[in-house]
Amino acid sequence: MNASAEGTPRPKREVEWLGVVSLTLGLLRFALQLPLVGTIIGFVSGIVALVRIKKSRGALVGKVPAVSGVILAFLILVRFSLVLTVSSARESARRATCVANEQKMFRAIQLYADEHDGKYPNSPNELRAYLTREYDLVCPMEPDIKKDSYILVCDTNSPNGVMIRESGNRHFGGSNVAYADGRIVWESAHPTHDRVVRYFRLLFLPECLLDLAGD
Ligand SMILES: [Zn+2]
Repeated sequence: MNASAEGTPRPKREVEWLGVVSLTLGLLRFALQLPLVGTIIGFVSGIVALVRIKKSRGALVGKVPAVSGVILAFLILVRFSLVLTVSSARESARRATCVANEQKMFRAIQLYADEHDGKYPNSPNELRAYLTREYDLVCPMEPDIKKDSYILVCDTNSPNGVMIRESGNRHFGGSNVAYADGRIVWESAHPTHDRVVRYFRLLFLPECLLDLAGD
């Protein structure tokens, strides 16, 4: 006796919803600017969905949305990493230009002092005659090109005295600082930075720098 084909119960097929979740998260990234963590969850969900579908031997369906979700999430992640790499390289180049600006200003300060009986300038504005280009006084990260990006200061708490500071934290949350010994370093933002700079700028220039030059 053979069992008839009609008598054999057909296996119940269910949808693997993780695949649908994966695709939905990918689409939401475009539609609602969903945070990147959503895309990562979508990518993992898609992979899990595909594994579960394969292991189910036909009991689970929904391969198309799962594959679409994984591909979409992959493309979003690749695009994000490319944008990150390009913007990081661009920022590094801008920071290098900013350091070059401070080097030029540093030399201009020395020239100014030579021509003014050792007196140092009070502001970057007085250095214009000693710089070849007007925009040497503007950090490439400064949105307003008419605004000077640097201030001349003297920090008596520092052994070498700070000579040039940026007027804002434009580079990776910090700024470039030129010391009286010629070193130019990147420093992270300090909560009291602006107040301290203003204080020393008002009280100690140019006398403080003259003292430093005499050491
Ligand atoms: Zn800068």
